[in-house]
Amino acid sequence: MIVRSRHGARRSFGVVIICLLGLAQPAAALGLAGCLPDQARSVETDLRRAKRLTLDAAVAVGDTPDYVRWFGDYTPKNAEIVRANLKAVVVAIRSGAIRVECQAERAAGCTQREYAWVYPGQPYVLRLCPAFFGLPTLHALSPGAQHSDHGTREGTIVHELSHFTRVAGTEDYCYSRTLCKLMAQRDTRRAIINADSYQYFTEDVTYYARKPLADKPPPAAQGD
Ligand SMILES: [Zn+2]
Repeated sequence: MIVRSRHGARRSFGVVIICLLGLAQPAAALGLAGCLPDQARSVETDLRRAKRLTLDAAVAVGDTPDYVRWFGDYTPKNAEIVRANLKAVVVAIRSGAIRVECQAERAAGCTQREYAWVYPGQPYVLRLCPAFFGLPTLHALSPGAQHSDHGTREGTIVHELSHFTRVAGTEDYCYSRTLCKLMAQRDTRRAIINADSYQYFTEDVTYYARKPLADKPPPAAQGD
């Protein structure tokens, strides 16, 4: 099965889920392979930020418009599943066991401008394609910025980590904000195990939810 999204192509076949484009060069940092030095630095920052944002998102799970937008009608049982899955992403990052592999431009899994991909049964190897490094970071966007279907680095990390069977075992039932909003209305059962739904919920209840602050520095200047 080949699924295309507005922000890249992601493929799923059997137990392999390829989601989201390196020049091979060993990185000094533990758990990083094939990454250029600047890529390695940014990935470490992105992971740290993704951890905090996902924890915030877990706390924000409730009977709210954001929840309903991405996961459908609220029920305590479904909310508990969503909260547990978000916490599992946090646990995965906290474990320190994530191994990032920066992939080459034409590497398998990165030939259609994908951003990243994983084997769900191979925790926690996160393959990043060159296009990942062209994504904005959530922190770099202006507070209150218009939602983008192109995603963010932190959101992409949430998406990918959620695929690991050991984490949340999510699937790719839909891609893009438009299609995943529709799916939440029509199929709650799938929405709560759909990777993009977790990405967008996390983006919405954390950074995108913030109002522009007058006379105050943007969140990006406030550290991680
Ligand atoms: Zn995916």
